[in-house]
This record gives sequence, C-alpha cells and structure tokens, in this order.
Amino acid sequence: MTLAAVVVFAIFEIVKTILFPQISLISSHIMTVIVAGILAFYVSRYAFSRYSAALKETERQTIMTEETNRLLSAVLATMREGVLIVNSQMRIVVYNGAAARIVRLPESNAQTRQQGEEAAAGVPFKLIEDAAEHSSIPASPSYRLADATRNPAVNEAFQRALDERAPVEVRVEMADRAAHSYQLNVAPLGSDLVVGVFFDITQLERLERVRREFFANLSHELRTPLTAILAYSETLLAGAIDDRENNTRFIEKLHKHASHMSELISDISDLSAIESGSVKLSLGPVRLKSVVAEIIALTEARRPNCDVTFEVFVPETLMVQADRTRLEQILYNLIDNAVKFNRPGGTVTVSTEESASRVAIHVEDTGAGITATDLPRVFERLYRTDKSRSRKVEGTGLGLAIVKHLVQAHGGEVSAASEIGRGSRFTFTLPVATAAVPPPSSSDARLATADQ
Ligand code: ADP
Repeated sequence: MTLAAVVVFAIFEIVKTILFPQISLISSHIMTVIVAGILAFYVSRYAFSRYSAALKETERQTIMTEETNRLLSAVLATMREGVLIVNSQMRIVVYNGAAARIVRLPESNAQTRQQGEEAAAGVPFKLIEDAAEHSSIPASPSYRLADATRNPAVNEAFQRALDERAPVEVRVEMADRAAHSYQLNVAPLGSDLVVGVFFDITQLERLERVRREFFANLSHELRTPLTAILAYSETLLAGAIDDRENNTRFIEKLHKHASHMSELISDISDLSAIESGSVKLSLGPVRLKSVVAEIIALTEARRPNCDVTFEVFVPETLMVQADRTRLEQILYNLIDNAVKFNRPGGTVTVSTEESASRVAIHVEDTGAGITATDLPRVFERLYRTDKSRSRKVEGTGLGLAIVKHLVQAHGGEVSAASEIGRGSRFTFTLPVATAAVPPPSSSDARLATADQ
C-alpha cells in the first residue's frame, strides 16, 4: 500500500509538471500537499485496519493458548499417572499431583492441588513451550530431580532421555514406597525438555504373580495325587492285587487320591463359573440361624471325630438377603476350616453384628492362627499357609477364594483377622432382608443354649 501511494504520488508529480509547466510555486505546493494528505489518509486507514486485524488474531490466539493450557493443566491434575517435565539442567519445571505423591516433591500436594483448582477456575497454566520460564511452578534449586527423588534409576532414565534425545523405558521401585513399582516412560519434549510418565504397575505385577503361583500350585496339587494313583495302581498290577492283606488298603488309597482330584477339579470349575459371573444368584430372605445349624450338623457328620465345641450367637429372627445354597457353601467352607485348623478340644464360634442394613457374620476358632504374612494371601486361589503343615490337612486351597467371590457376588465383603496361638476370625457381610420373619424350624432347637 505504501509503495502504491509513492507510485501514485510520483505519477501525480510528473503529470503536474507536464500539464501545468507555468504553474506558480505556491499553487504547485498546495496541490502537492492536498494529494499527499489524501494519500496519507488512505495509507494510514489501510495500516490501521491491518493493525486491528492482527491485534484481533493475537487476542484469539492468546485465548486459545489459555484455553489449551487450562484444559491441559486440568487433565494433568486429574491424571492417575505421575507426570514430570524436566529441563536440561535436570530441574523439574512441571509436575502433577500424582507425581508429587510418587517422588515426594518438597512442594507437597498443596501446590499441585492448587494448580488443579486454578486450572478448574480458568487460570492459565503455562507449560510445554518454554516451560522453564513460564511454568506456574518456578524452577529453583529445590526442584532439582535429584532432590525430589534419590532413586538412581529415575535420575538415570531422565538423564539418558536428555542425552540421547530418545525415549527411555524403565521399571522403578520407589525406596520410600517399597510396596509400589512403576513403569517409567521418559520421552523428549521440544528442544531441551523431557517428559516422564509413571504408570503404577503394582497391582498388575501382583496379579501376574498370583496367576503364576496359581498354575505352579495347580500342577503341584494335581501331580501329588496323580503320582500316588500311578504308584498304587502299578503296585497292584505288579501283583499286589493278589495280596489279600494289602490290596483293599491300596484301593482305598487310590480312591482317596482320585476323590481329592475330583474335588479339586470341581472347586476349580465352580470358582471359574463364579468369577466369570455365569452363576446366577437367586436372592431372597434366608433365616441365617437355620443355615448355620444345618452346616454345623453337616460338618459334624463329615468329621465325626472332630473334637471341637460349637457356639452360636445368631439372633433367632435375623434374616439375610442371600442365595441359600451359596450361603451354605460360604458357611461350610468357613466352619469346616475353623474345625480343621482348630486345636483338639477347641471352640468354633459363629456370631453376628448388625449395623444399619448390613450384618457382619463372624466365624471364629481357637486354632494356631495365621501369620501376618500369610493373612492377606489366604483368599488367593490355591494359597496355603505353611505348605508342609497344610499338606497334612485335607483341602483344595480353593475354599476361601470361593468364599470371597460368593460374598462379593452378594454385595458383601470378607476379611480375616488372626492372632498366633489364639486363633482366627473370618468375617463376611451380607445385606439384611426386610421380609417378614417365618417361624423357627425344629432343627434350630439344639443351638438354643448358646443363643443371644
Ligand atoms: P483349604 O481347602 O486348604 O482349607 P482354603 O482356601 O479354605 O483352602 O484355605 C486356604 C489356607 O488358609 C488353608 O490351607 C490354611 O492354610 C489357611 N486357613 C484357612 N482357614 C484357616 C483357619 N481358620 N485357621 C488357620 N488357617 C486357616
């Protein structure tokens, strides 16, 4: 535009000189001033419109950047993965709340929470480009990565990503949070930054360990009776079948081991059916006390020589919302364990505690108890405490896993507490049924003495 105005002005001057060679100097100057003024007006109007368009575009871009930053900081603040952005001096320039908890940044959660609140309130949060200069978290010596975590693997991963400008992936365990392991992915970001993301893989690793142990235990559980079956059948085939003194005993052993295998396989298929959700519960009001009485009678019938006393503290009128058959299975597993792992002359106590719409049912024994290391793991499939001791007691190692899944399918929870030398207490919760209470059946009469 300016060039065009200059050209127009030059043409005007030439035309003026050709057309009016005799014109006075004053008139010539007046004409020049008028034309120059008109041209200057148009040039400045054009420049002003260009300037305001540029200003509008800058404003639009600023709003977009602020909006993007606001969204980005909101995403960062709500992420479960820890995010750390580190500059070439190995200083942390941006981090989110999850990262603050992982590496224990000195700024603590308060600042990162504040960032989240600011983000939610629309306060811009500068990051990514020139993060070191613009980040809402000032880069200072106290934010050196080495100060935030002494873990060499974390520091090395960031340093390597900075040096090589290539992604780095490592598994790290935080020393101050020994129970947590992370997969740390560090990748270059722009020219002198790297971003590290911590994925918590503790639970994944635990599940993987449980799965590995399950298969190892399963093959062991199947191999033991199979080896016995093969040995006894080979002995019989080799001539022991005619040994009148021992052949019945051998066949009994064969039967015992085959029964164990059959029990194990039926428990496994039961468990996988419950876990996959293909078992449909037919829920209804069940009188808890009558089920407890039936299961105690069944346990006594199956273990005629068990030297334990049963005590039941269950209110006569207590109704729970449950699938009766599955409730029997839960109680049988717990009461049978309480008998199996009890001491001779011990006691098995079944009691309840009602709170609001739920009831906690306790099955307590006076056995040897379970160690603190074993206690959190007894609900795992095929897990058995003190293997050598457990092997002497029959069982598949699946009972408590079945209990856990059945209780959860009822919307309840199961837990265990134990004291070495004093016994264990297994507790599960169920919803209380609100239906009318039917009259007690005669089978409950025998338990009346120990009732509340
Ligand atoms: P099992 O068929 O071996 O009883 P469970 O799943 O019912 O399988 O129990 C798993 C393991 O937990 C048992 O082998 C035993 O070591 C331990 N356990 C369960 N209940 C008790 C208890 N009441 N007292 C002591 N240990 C128990």
